[in-house]
Amino acid sequence: MNDLSQSNIIHIEQLTKVFYTDELETHALAGVHLSIAPGEYVAMSGPSGCGKSTLLSILGLLDTPTTGQYTLNGKAVANLGFADRSRIRNQEIGFIFQSFNLIGDLTVFENVELPLTYRAGMAGAERKERALHALERVNMAHRTSHYPAQLSGGQQQRVAVARALAGSPSILLADEPTGNLDSKNGEAVMRLMQDLHSEGATICMVTHDPRFAAHAERQIHLFDGKVVSEDELLRLLAASEESTSTGTAV
Ligand code: ADP
Ligand code: MG
Repeated sequence: MNDLSQSNIIHIEQLTKVFYTDELETHALAGVHLSIAPGEYVAMSGPSGCGKSTLLSILGLLDTPTTGQYTLNGKAVANLGFADRSRIRNQEIGFIFQSFNLIGDLTVFENVELPLTYRAGMAGAERKERALHALERVNMAHRTSHYPAQLSGGQQQRVAVARALAGSPSILLADEPTGNLDSKNGEAVMRLMQDLHSEGATICMVTHDPRFAAHAERQIHLFDGKVVSEDELLRLLAASEESTSTGTAV
């Protein structure tokens, strides 16, 4: 392994993902390179269907790449089996989804505590202390016995952030965390992400909102399954608009 794969939390090289459905082959990722250093806040954006969620799922060990290298905290993880992936995901990754993904028949407290119950060797008392601390961190400790349906969307997303934080992961991955929120609740969740970052959290967040992307210290752009520079993105978008308008004119 080279130095870059050791000094970064995330280091990927030449990552591809191909989906096969019926007779169709979709090249969702077409050779992605990306490194994220400890403590960085990275925002990822790009047009719908360009591979953002696919990339985040692979980074979060929810899916595996077709080819390529992925080093997470110094460990090669691209080709691990299901059990190893689950264990490493539980320890290293905090995932925040657009649709919150809380479990409806568990209370707020139980939702946050649940991932910690899969940690070998973590005593019940530590689990409870961590869950409560994470809920305090997102200002939801006054709602521990509520069920998700009794909360607003913004509150549900704060609980989901607490669930992601409770296990002290190496990195927080968020896939359009404000996508289902109104602007006020969206801004509150974004402030929370900024606060977590200023306390040292490493964050990679997908967002299509340029105001929120501007909160991050680095912005990366994805286009057709590849990381491109901002200049390149503008050129590609202009070219695709041109070809669309030519197409309709014909
Ligand atoms: P984004 O999040 O940027 O909108 P996605 O990563 O969800 O894009 O999708 C990238 C491409 O891969 C799209 O063409 C999408 O249709 C395809 N895709 C995503 N997931 C699957 C899947 N499970 N099976 C087949 N195709 C998929
Ligand atoms: Mg997506």
